[in-house]
Amino acid sequence: MKLQNKTAIVTGAATGIGQAIALRFVQEGAAVVIDYVGKPGSADETLGKIKAIGGRATAVNADVSSPQQVQTLVDTAVKTFGGLDILVNNAGIEFKHPFVEFPVEQFQKILAVNLIGPFVCSQVSARQMIQQKRGGRIINISSVHEDLPMLTNAPYCASKGGLRMLMRTIAVELAPHQITVNNIGPGAIFTPIDKDVEANPQIEAQLLAEIPLSRWGKPEEIAGLAAWLASNEASYCTGSTFFMDGGMLRQAGSL
Ligand code: BGC
Repeated sequence: MKLQNKTAIVTGAATGIGQAIALRFVQEGAAVVIDYVGKPGSADETLGKIKAIGGRATAVNADVSSPQQVQTLVDTAVKTFGGLDILVNNAGIEFKHPFVEFPVEQFQKILAVNLIGPFVCSQVSARQMIQQKRGGRIINISSVHEDLPMLTNAPYCASKGGLRMLMRTIAVELAPHQITVNNIGPGAIFTPIDKDVEANPQIEAQLLAEIPLSRWGKPEEIAGLAAWLASNEASYCTGSTFFMDGGMLRQAGSL
């Protein structure tokens, strides 16, 4: 077990990649605080899966872009499990429109969740980790789109590009405290964020044609990488993005 006696916060862990990471961390021995937004009970599925394997977890409804709510999230980890060792900034949203029609309000919402959120959560968590004096891990779930343009998705791509530079900069600032900061850059993973593509065989085929391994990735595959990055085995990694994308970023044109 890679994460015994560790406490982790995973944002956006009610579904998708966040849920798989929360579950995997528990399997590796960690106690997990699940952050979610929305109706009470939204995190019940994740909590249920964790309880079913005898894991330790609790859920907190907190908007990742609100410093007050994030402080409550971190305080809950400390009060319930005795400290905070790992933060996974996973919460993310996307809306797609052609650039010239993109409503600026939606751009602001995307930035609030995908970029201000990791800023606030990392800041509040780092203060706690520095005070504890035992290092820490910050892992951002970014995307291939921190590097790769995606049509109709300019705000999402901008938020992930911002997340890349947030990660690189705070990795250097937090290194003296033995807090490492890295990004995971998933490609197309089969989760609710892509439900429109999953429901449309023609668009799905178009997407799979862009992936050398010709398939969706699984949330559990990303969770395995997150568990490794959170563990002592990754203690010399900081300031990097680790892509897991079925080769998407290396796809070459055929002609
Ligand atoms: C996006 C998906 C997209 C995938 C691969 C992810 O970051 O959320 O909508 O299918 O990247 O392009």
